[in-house]
Amino acid sequence: MKCKVCKRPAVINLRAQNRGLCEGCFDRYVLDRVEKAIKRFKMFTRKEKVLVAVSGGKDSLGLWDILARLGYNPTGLFVDMGIHRHGHSERSRKVVEAFARSRGLELIVESLADWWGKGIEEIGRRVLCPTCGMAKRYLTNRTAVEGGFHVLCTGHNLDDEAAVLLSNTLNWQVGYLARQSPVLEAWHPRLTRKAKPLVLLTERESALYTILRGIEYMDEPCPYSRGATTLVYKRLLNQVEWRSPGTKQRFYTLFLKNKGLFEGVAREEREGLKECERCGQPTWEGLCAFCRFVEGSHGDRGREVPEGDQVRP
Ligand code: SF4
Ligand SMILES: [Zn+2]
Ligand SMILES: [Zn+2]
Repeated sequence: MKCKVCKRPAVINLRAQNRGLCEGCFDRYVLDRVEKAIKRFKMFTRKEKVLVAVSGGKDSLGLWDILARLGYNPTGLFVDMGIHRHGHSERSRKVVEAFARSRGLELIVESLADWWGKGIEEIGRRVLCPTCGMAKRYLTNRTAVEGGFHVLCTGHNLDDEAAVLLSNTLNWQVGYLARQSPVLEAWHPRLTRKAKPLVLLTERESALYTILRGIEYMDEPCPYSRGATTLVYKRLLNQVEWRSPGTKQRFYTLFLKNKGLFEGVAREEREGLKECERCGQPTWEGLCAFCRFVEGSHGDRGREVPEGDQVRP
């Protein structure tokens, strides 16, 4: 297959667009898609302070690299959740630190142990993800707010967003649907704006970018991510996409076009908010979900104030 733009050998076939691209044209395509998402959804400007949540995976490191290349001067944030099985957190941290060093980029490292005294594996439950996701969201948001960052970026790509959308639709999670967005404004002084600059790129495109750039990333997923329902939805969507290229993109962009339908729900959800008695984070209860967790009264995780959507395993 030849590149549709310059006729050199193609490195990828973009089936949804019915065209192949060579390495150089693909690189330009990725940068253009990300810049387009940032502008179209008014995510941030070059004058704003940008924090990128990096896990060591291909999407977040690729995003950090892209934002630096586009001249946004992003700072990275790695949150060590204390996942010691297979040395996951330790290895991820090393990968992130090596990347930051090699590019001369600023990196902030936070650790759950500094806040709670131990790692997430010590919560004594079989299923870690809901609590881990909640704690990670809390720590990333708090670091962004206290560090004076205007925006917190995550590496969610189109496949992630389409899978979450499918899950929310199948379960008619109207509250989550109201909040799912490429950019979520900071609607409380203790919340930062959230943005997902990779939403116009598929997982395959994002992975290929990271590989072609020679970025060393953590290629083993978190040992607790196995069996996550998001992966089932991704597989399903890929099957549909194979038969009908462009479905994922259509599913997501048409949802964004019709998001106004859920506006009333989003407004209602914000009513009756208080501030956490311990940390000031918005909550519907006396203590926020994280403070209840830290204080040990976390048999019931309670209702977490939404500041985005689910964490990606
Ligand atoms: S898959 Fe994600 S949310 Fe679940 S334990 Fe691992 S890092 Fe935490
Ligand atoms: Zn080309
Ligand atoms: Zn709190």
